[in-house]
Amino acid sequence: MTGRLHGVVAMDGPSGTGKSTVSRRLAATCGAAYLDTGAMYRALTLAVLRTGLDGAAPTAGDVAVAAANDLESVTDPAAPAIRLAGEDIEAEIRGPAVTAAVSAVSAVPAVRTALVQRQRELIAEAVARHGGIVVEGRDIGSVVVPDAPLKVYLTASEEIRAARREAQDRKAGRGGDTVTVLADVRRRDRLDSTRKTSPLHAAADALVIDTDELSVEDVLAELLRLVRDRGLLT
Ligand code: C5P
Repeated sequence: MTGRLHGVVAMDGPSGTGKSTVSRRLAATCGAAYLDTGAMYRALTLAVLRTGLDGAAPTAGDVAVAAANDLESVTDPAAPAIRLAGEDIEAEIRGPAVTAAVSAVSAVPAVRTALVQRQRELIAEAVARHGGIVVEGRDIGSVVVPDAPLKVYLTASEEIRAARREAQDRKAGRGGDTVTVLADVRRRDRLDSTRKTSPLHAAADALVIDTDELSVEDVLAELLRLVRDRGLLT
């Protein structure tokens, strides 16, 4: 018997580190909620693209902030969902158009302010209802929940992350070649870690786990050990 999670586990790191898979599994294993904040940035990016605006244009920020009011995130790890004005947009936000534009939209300060506020509300709601939540993103431990009792930063080499992304895309029927996927991983890393507002970095008190040599089961076992050691399971 694993026990129930109490409090917030902040899971940060770049794409392709296995963050989503292990975060969702950890939440499901410990009876906790699960929030994918990347999906929220992707959803607002889709709203911007649908207007025909360029992701970085000043007015794109206004469109994104307005769209935040129509955003709905379901935090059940067995069936996480994201809706924009009632429409299920899960498949569309994973496509190449959103992936190409999301870092520009995410760098707009007003977009971050709107989403961080929404994320904190969802987290408070989930903690009140379930006791615990696993939240994944880029700035969870550093900005969204700086007092989280467990902060983890997952890393892996660019090549391994690109290979995982490619395998995921292939499985979802979105073929991308290795060179393009690696270039996209590098481009997003650069944009996400150099933006002015809440750039991607490990919080000073985050535990860094390099997943190059680790399977999903290995990482999950390590996370369960950490939540148990911190007294977050009852
Ligand atoms: O996690 P995912 O790859 O879906 O995130 C998509 C993008 O959303 C990231 O590349 C980043 O630009 C942005 N993001 C962010 N802050 C978060 C989560 C995601 O800026 N907390």
